[in-house]
Amino acid sequence: MSIAENITEIRSRMDAAARRVSRSPGDVTLMAVSKTCSAGDIREAYKAGLRVFGESRVQELATKAESLRDLANAKFHFIGHLQANKAGKAVELFSCVDSLDSLRLARKINEAGARLHRRVPVLIEINAGGEEQKSGVTPDSEELEELLQAASGLENLEFRGLMTVPPYTKDPEGARPFFRALRELRKKIAARKLPGIGLDVLSMGMSNDFEVAIEEGATCVRVGSAIFGERPRL
Ligand SMILES: *Cc1c(COP(=O)(O)O)cnc(C)c1O
Repeated sequence: MSIAENITEIRSRMDAAARRVSRSPGDVTLMAVSKTCSAGDIREAYKAGLRVFGESRVQELATKAESLRDLANAKFHFIGHLQANKAGKAVELFSCVDSLDSLRLARKINEAGARLHRRVPVLIEINAGGEEQKSGVTPDSEELEELLQAASGLENLEFRGLMTVPPYTKDPEGARPFFRALRELRKKIAARKLPGIGLDVLSMGMSNDFEVAIEEGATCVRVGSAIFGERPRL
């Protein structure tokens, strides 16, 4: 199947999932995760109507960006682990950082935003499964609390919501408790009405489990291999 055909199929599955829980299909953004894909593949997805792309390496987008300049309104979101020393470059290239995982990184992105006279939208990445090898801040941790408290002072950041990558399970139902936990965490934080913290976005769900994520309240699903095909193993 072509990239355009894959997108059509994913959209209809997304719409069905939204309808199952009486949500409006228009409330969920399909992000095309284009890491390891060619600029040509990205162009195809763009032609099929997608405008939001996810990449997990700064250098990789730097290489592809030149040939994608003509794609009006295409937005690239950073979704990988961002090293603090690459924050400046990331802010130049990306519209948003969806994987903010420490206060130190928040400060770096804030400085870079100030230098470039822009506010950088960010999502806090939550390590919902508490997995050691994964980045993200754990729910109810001191680290998360510090980040939430610091938000109002980081004037060049715009906190928009939460993102998570749950522990991998073959059965997509295995991810449901973690998606639900993220939704509950959002509710809990929202109830505190902290200054500087916006929580409109819940970015969760990938190729294997985006329907479950939508049923649990995702406003953005990040889909790679189901659109572009299997990635080469690195
Ligand atoms: C690679 C990646 C995805 C997409 O994964 P697929 O299983 O190919 O859909 C989504 N989110 C993040 C953070 C990723 O690194």
